[in-house]
Amino acid sequence: MQTFTTVFLAALIISTLVQFWLSIRQMKHVYKHRSAVPKEFADKLSLEEHQKAADYTLTKGAFGRVEMFLGLVILLFWLYAGGLNWLDNFWRSVAADYGWNEIYTGVAVLLSFSFISSLIGLPTSLYNTFVIEEKFGFNKMTLKTLFIDMFKGTLLGLVLGVPLLALILWLMNTAGDMWWVYAWGALSTFSLVMMWAYPKFIAPIFNKFKPLEEGETLDLIQSLLTRSGFNSDGVFIMDGSRRSSHGNAYFTGFGKNKRIVFFDTLLESLSAKQIEAVLAHELGHFKHKHVLKGLVVSLTTTFIGFAVLAWLMKQNWFFTGLGVEHSSTYMALLLFMLASPAFTFLLDPIMSWWSRKHEFEADAFAAKQASAKELISSLVSLYKENASTLTPDPLYSAFYDSHPPASIRIAHLKQLSTS
Ligand SMILES: [Zn+2]
Repeated sequence: MQTFTTVFLAALIISTLVQFWLSIRQMKHVYKHRSAVPKEFADKLSLEEHQKAADYTLTKGAFGRVEMFLGLVILLFWLYAGGLNWLDNFWRSVAADYGWNEIYTGVAVLLSFSFISSLIGLPTSLYNTFVIEEKFGFNKMTLKTLFIDMFKGTLLGLVLGVPLLALILWLMNTAGDMWWVYAWGALSTFSLVMMWAYPKFIAPIFNKFKPLEEGETLDLIQSLLTRSGFNSDGVFIMDGSRRSSHGNAYFTGFGKNKRIVFFDTLLESLSAKQIEAVLAHELGHFKHKHVLKGLVVSLTTTFIGFAVLAWLMKQNWFFTGLGVEHSSTYMALLLFMLASPAFTFLLDPIMSWWSRKHEFEADAFAAKQASAKELISSLVSLYKENASTLTPDPLYSAFYDSHPPASIRIAHLKQLSTS
């Protein structure tokens, strides 16, 4: 076996085992705390609601482990059972017949790969929506909505993704040794344009948005926006209930295209005061420049990623070590995307920790600008509505969770409200 094959398989096995072990820890922890509502939530949550959250977490966890195993089998099939090599050779022979260059061949290989991958992923995605989410009463999607979504998503992916992919492949093939700097510039520009265009042009393809109507909620929101010095393109309600009863609120876009979006499901379950507190938390993210910091980190990691890819592309062992006989720019790109998660998954806990730090900062802002008490009650209500577990395994939570565990987060907020 080649050295790189050994290194890659070792990383893959270790990352899979760690994730599996964490998932089992989470399962045991949630199961152990299933029989009683945690003390600090005893007056806010019924035993039935607590157990629904536990069962939902356990079911999703078990399904996650099945998906993890399937993902591993599929990856090994692509790499070491000759799947990718076959796909590459197939398009190489078509390219030879029609006189295609490497860019056309590359687009064909990557498109067909992503098409086959979506087909393989379809059953698990259907099972998740129509069996698991359905069973816990969250699913509002019909098969029709699902297929319309898929159709729109595919079309959008083709319209936006193919030109970008072709551009990157063209740079890889023609721009010389520094291609990766240009490619990084192209990808970064594309992402920035998407961030700007998302709220106004892309999100409306999938959901309906309407401005929040006049009333107590809008008054509270507007006065909060004024006192925290925030300009936006408006406050909108999104028909999230068309797909799922999970509630949420988010901020999107930048510059003048900033929008505040509430899922209709959230507005139904929270009072005006609670909504004010949730929004104040979101504004906290903005005030602390979390979006900007996230953007800088993501641009930096893509820069490093491209540099590594540029080096790997020149190494023959990178291709043969991952089961592909011919070297090419497009295959380097694809192999890089498939192989890197096995090595980068150790960065997940760092990113999660960073994100949790941001959540605390946003909470502190909300406590100052609105009310910590209202934020606590809206959080409890959201945990309840979303059947999120209040008793995650500490290690699992430290590794994956972008938000602090309920009890720790609420304890922090309580401190803020008394100080
Ligand atoms: Zn947040």
